[in-house]
Amino acid sequence: MRLGLDFKFVFSYGLAKVLWIFNKEEGRIYMETIVMRQPDDFHCHLREGEILKFVAPFTAGIFGRGLAMGNLARPITTAYDAVRYYREIVRACGSSRFKPIMSIMLTKKTNPNIIGDAGKRGIKTLKLIPGNTSTNSEDGISLWDIERSYLNLAAAQSVNMVFSIHCELLSDESGNAIPEEERESKAISFLDQLITFLPKLKIVIEHASTRDMIDYVKRAPENVAATLTLHHATLTRDDVYEMDGSIISHNYCKPIAKTADDREAVIEAMMSGNPKFFFGSDSAPHLESAKMRFPPAAGIFTAPVVLPALCDLFERRESLGRLEDFVSRFGSEFYGLPLNSGTIEIRKREWIAPEYIGGIKVFLGGTRFGWRVDSPIGLA
Ligand SMILES: [Zn+2]
Repeated sequence: MRLGLDFKFVFSYGLAKVLWIFNKEEGRIYMETIVMRQPDDFHCHLREGEILKFVAPFTAGIFGRGLAMGNLARPITTAYDAVRYYREIVRACGSSRFKPIMSIMLTKKTNPNIIGDAGKRGIKTLKLIPGNTSTNSEDGISLWDIERSYLNLAAAQSVNMVFSIHCELLSDESGNAIPEEERESKAISFLDQLITFLPKLKIVIEHASTRDMIDYVKRAPENVAATLTLHHATLTRDDVYEMDGSIISHNYCKPIAKTADDREAVIEAMMSGNPKFFFGSDSAPHLESAKMRFPPAAGIFTAPVVLPALCDLFERRESLGRLEDFVSRFGSEFYGLPLNSGTIEIRKREWIAPEYIGGIKVFLGGTRFGWRVDSPIGLA
């Protein structure tokens, strides 16, 4: 673009600015650059060991902070584990200024002393993944047993830890498995009781994926919020299952993507400006070998594409002015963290996402995005 002939102007939405350029020759205006507060990812799986070293820079290269989930081979269940994992993540991020936000898992072995200690050490989140829902969650607690954890949750409330919940009911009272697409909606009844017993506990419903859950979060007290993911704003069940019922493993995640109406509810909530809804990618990389087995490992590696894809999505809905609050403000405010002071530039440049990175399938790999983040790890 020949800037000598062009006229630049800027629209501001809070800290976010969108730079437009008017090209006199063509008589058209172009969106050129979004400058906005550095975003945070309030739900990511950074893994450990070699995979951590490989995937962490994709999060750390863009986000100021990321809430690191602790469902490792040996789950993160104490402050000691979390501090060790924090150091491992920081080492893997190299020179980046990325700050991990740490969590511990609520398991059958958790007790109030463990939580008190974690709170004192700056661990922000107590995470519940119901047993066997996610990678390495076998020691997790069923929602049917959640009352047995109320003392632990009271301890979390007293040290101002956030209770982060993968909210799916896996089986009914008789132990029969509940179909995947009904698990989230059927878990809602457990939340009312929890909120009544622990009215001041901050609760985040992770990766809300149904209109039922989103409506529930909207009408719940203000200490109840939800993270929303790119993949639940993109996929429906038809992208996960073939006509013959076989699984399209790279789109397989938990909670499973659902109907077009549920997806619409996720998108509407993202763009609603309601501070109860903020970004948590749930980026969950798995090696191809784990995705190709049956059943495939649940989880989708979205970190390399999340921001360009969200820009495209918000732009298509003429809602770019709402993006910064969703990714850079509402989550920090809910967690009581200072807003990031740095900014990030996203340019209106076409960019084709790689299909695979290091043997891990990238979500929407091969897609041509309209926006590109100038990333320190050289993805662009
Ligand atoms: Zn997750």
